[in-house]
Amino acid sequence: MSWFKRTDKGIQTPTEMKREAPDGLWYQCPTCKKAMHTREHKLNAFTCINCNYHEKIGSEAYFQILFDDGEYNELDANLHSGDPLKFIDTKSYVDRVRATEKKSGLKDAARTAYGKMSEIDIVITCMDFSFIGGSMGSVVGEKIARGIAYALEHKLPFLMISKSGGARMMEAGFSLMQMAKTSARLAQLAEAKLPYISLLTDPTTGGVTASYAMLGDFNISEPEALIGFAGPRVIKETIGKELPKGFQTAEFVLEHGFLDFIVDRKDLKDKLASLLRMIQ
Ligand SMILES: [Zn+2]
Repeated sequence: MSWFKRTDKGIQTPTEMKREAPDGLWYQCPTCKKAMHTREHKLNAFTCINCNYHEKIGSEAYFQILFDDGEYNELDANLHSGDPLKFIDTKSYVDRVRATEKKSGLKDAARTAYGKMSEIDIVITCMDFSFIGGSMGSVVGEKIARGIAYALEHKLPFLMISKSGGARMMEAGFSLMQMAKTSARLAQLAEAKLPYISLLTDPTTGGVTASYAMLGDFNISEPEALIGFAGPRVIKETIGKELPKGFQTAEFVLEHGFLDFIVDRKDLKDKLASLLRMIQ
């Protein structure tokens, strides 16, 4: 009899006590439910190796994917929100920002960095959905505006990666002003004949869609991203009609002429680089 043979009968481990794998080692795709190693998932630019579902990722992951050797210089890393309206909903805005900063490790819903992408110098601002739903408040607008100013000063192309639920309610009118501010800056970039590429990722909605996200020389998107202005329920109630199938997906928006192309995240860096080489 081998020494490891279980001699006692009836020993049961309840399911909730079973440890199958350490947390974070496996990723399960929410669409096809297939499990894969997190390392494999990361090597695949956080897309599912089975069904190609594009997992929502934040600025750090995009910067690692796009900048050569993951090296970049962040601009205005310490800008953070004021509370101009002394806004309180279920909790005060100041407390909400503080709690989100702690939880996400971010200062606000966007980060700007410059560096080399396939040896091309570029400025990238990328939004973070984990910070109050990627909402556009005064810090997001200011970081984009300053990112464009940096691109103008150094004559560099600008890439915006949007991922947002829209304007930040807690800053009300101050949020809406960011639409005009960023649009004006982008007009200066266009006058200087510097390229602006806008990448819309899942989801891009509200005031973000209605301003900088749709103002690119090229407006591009990841597959199956939700892209829209108002939510489908509001539109349905307004027009009093059933909405077409696939409404507000990147594929639908492309078919109706609002996007230039859809790019798989695994090809993003190469496509952006060849696009910039073509137009510069
Ligand atoms: Zn999948």
